[in-house]
Amino acid sequence: MNNKVYFTPGPSELYPTVPQHMQEAMAQKIGTISHRSKQFQEIYAGAESGLRKLLQLPDEYEVFFVASATEVWERAIQNNVQRESFHLVNGSFSKRFYETAKELGREAQLHEVPFGQGFDVESINVPETAELVALIQNETSSGACLPVEDINRFREKASDDALIYVDAVSSLPYPAFDYTLVDSVYFSVQKCFGLPAGLGVWLVNDRCMAKARALQESGLSIGSYHTLPTLLEKALVSQTVETPNVLNIYLLGKVLEDMNRKGVATIRQETEAKAAQIYTFLEQSTVFSPAVENPKHRSKTTIVANTSIPASEVNSHLAKYDLQVGSGYGKYKDSQIRIANFPAHSMEQVERLLEKLRELEN
Ligand SMILES: *Cc1c(COP(=O)(O)O)cnc(C)c1O
Repeated sequence: MNNKVYFTPGPSELYPTVPQHMQEAMAQKIGTISHRSKQFQEIYAGAESGLRKLLQLPDEYEVFFVASATEVWERAIQNNVQRESFHLVNGSFSKRFYETAKELGREAQLHEVPFGQGFDVESINVPETAELVALIQNETSSGACLPVEDINRFREKASDDALIYVDAVSSLPYPAFDYTLVDSVYFSVQKCFGLPAGLGVWLVNDRCMAKARALQESGLSIGSYHTLPTLLEKALVSQTVETPNVLNIYLLGKVLEDMNRKGVATIRQETEAKAAQIYTFLEQSTVFSPAVENPKHRSKTTIVANTSIPASEVNSHLAKYDLQVGSGYGKYKDSQIRIANFPAHSMEQVERLLEKLRELEN
């Protein structure tokens, strides 16, 4: 039996109702049903409407289920960029999207700031020729975030036809986006939705759809089975092109029912209250300190701290109490810790974590 509470930034602690939904899924043999059955269509439609409700998604948006956020990077470039994309880069995940565009033969431009920093949006010029502007709401590797009010300023910075993409993989449903000012938002379920990995969700508006059709009609390849037009054709009948991760779509639908019962406003308030506790602790600590200097750019959902005790030793201490945090990313493996603050983590669990981290101070 594993009783550990995982504050790792993804995969992370499962949403508390997942075990019971998993049992019900087994009892109903959800892993066996056909993805062309009426039962699957109802599961699909339930997950989609749950998401639309939780995120208050406007009608001009489509909801597509894909394999992962990594897949979205590739599909976004194939479907929405003929020549040039523009990327804000401040860590490993935002860098990866930029590299994907280059690997697919596009001219990718970037505005890069050092690891751990946020962006001074005022000073950023978006090239007139950029067809896709890649923003990262929450850079999981460094704990730097891009506030929604800053995201909202890119519509006027970019050319009228540019599509604004937002990576919200490790923050949704926390950020309250104005979906009319962006064109696509995407995430994976193993972060804030507290589910096992293996499902990505790609939200796109009619402008992304139109661009994909235009590229296709011009004779360009926009990929094969997961082009936007093919995804839409199937989504309209609550199905997917391929045999999908039916179990995870089922679990997502169930967790969304639970989250909607709680209400997104409550989830957001709880996220802020827990983040405030964690940052207050970090600021007063003699061992830890917030890694992101500017408070405005500090993530509420993946909180990164510098540590004077190696992260591996921090986790050895926490292991005695069935707790685990994430180590630092890449070369910061031992000099930083990352604390996930997702809807699955209760205030009680956060308080217990901070109590045990406090024991490391002498
Ligand atoms: C985890 C993560 C991804 C990649 O998600 P996968 O599900 O592994 O494809 C992309 N962007 C950010 C910000 C992430 O945290």
